[in-house]
Amino acid sequence: MDIKQTIKRQHLQDIEGQSARISSMMATIREVMLRPKDAKNAPVFGATQLATACEVDKSKITYRMNRGDLPEGKMRGNRREWTMEEALPWIREFRREQLRPEDAAAVTITVANFKGGVAKTTTAVTLAQGLAMRGHRVLVLDLDPQGSATTLFGVLPDAEVDAEHTAMKLFSGEEPDLTYAIRNTYWPGIDLVCAAPLLFGAEFALPARQTHDPGFEFWKVLDRGLDNARETHDVIIIDTPPALSYVTINALMAADGVLLPLPPSALDFASSAQFWDLFSDLCNQLVRSRGEDKIFEFIDVLLSRVEANDTASSVVRGWVLEGYGDKVLPIEIPKTAVAATASAEFGTVYDVARGSVSAKTLSRARDAYDRMCQLIEQQIQAVWALQQEQ
Ligand code: ADP
Ligand code: MG
Repeated sequence: MDIKQTIKRQHLQDIEGQSARISSMMATIREVMLRPKDAKNAPVFGATQLATACEVDKSKITYRMNRGDLPEGKMRGNRREWTMEEALPWIREFRREQLRPEDAAAVTITVANFKGGVAKTTTAVTLAQGLAMRGHRVLVLDLDPQGSATTLFGVLPDAEVDAEHTAMKLFSGEEPDLTYAIRNTYWPGIDLVCAAPLLFGAEFALPARQTHDPGFEFWKVLDRGLDNARETHDVIIIDTPPALSYVTINALMAADGVLLPLPPSALDFASSAQFWDLFSDLCNQLVRSRGEDKIFEFIDVLLSRVEANDTASSVVRGWVLEGYGDKVLPIEIPKTAVAATASAEFGTVYDVARGSVSAKTLSRARDAYDRMCQLIEQQIQAVWALQQEQ
């Protein structure tokens, strides 16, 4: 056996070469991804879909068309179509009772789990899209230096994101409020704060600020930095890195609600025990020990990537239900080829075009996410109702 051939020794130079090759591939992939024909597009609505989105009978849409005060869409053949931009005024008109009351603030939801690959990013982005389709103004805050959520919005973290597009300047203390970093996306109704590897710098900046100023409360930086967004947006969704970092602590402390995606596998269940362990230590150290309290309006456990008819996962599902009780959302997100197809296109189930997968598979996948969005919307509305009582 030729040892040299077997072990394929790599020098630093080879690693640099590898890095350059992947970067240039990503640039090409992105070019394809953003070619006019393939550029990311929000969904288009036919009359039936518009009626469903507005939660009214189709006849109401036809009737309201006569008034001419809402976008009339465009005829394509003999079918009328509305872009998402055109559909939103309709949805916001018919669903106005469901939207944020004027005197209420945005609800912040942090999607967290210290483990990678549990569907945090997929959940965060799909939830944002689902809520935006229901008429809410959503801000997605990507706090994972890997920038997966950023990539799903068609922005390339390495090439297109500078500190001023991320929360970095907030964490470093250069900016007191996150407004500077908010940009819009291809999806009307969703704004984005990007992430990129430079956000790792926050893991040094925050403890350094604490050292210089013992009175500095590093865990409140994001909470304070979101004050303005709580007025300009209805829902803020935070995607976090798979680690208990200074940034993740900020995301948890800024949250009104926490969403923990959890695939029903034994290893994921075991690592969720560590999440709760660290999370509760943290709350004790930062909050309880100062005689303060932190209220989470809701904490949801979402069974994600659930494989149907899998014996092992049905056993673990039993543990999850026993361990997390009524925190478990009454919906399971199935493991589906649609999600895989979608992520191959840097998208989600709401991005996948009809026709690229079978209609039945697509609607089964979307139904689960629709229900998830509906359940979470109800909790958001309950928080607004509470705010108004106070
Ligand atoms: P995390 O952010 O927790 O690391 P991701 O959202 O990036 O997790 O998901 C990890 C992988 O699992 C991705 O490749 C994603 O496309 C895939 N995935 C997520 N949800 C599903 C699902 N319901 N069915 C199949 N694959 C999924
Ligand atoms: Mg992620």
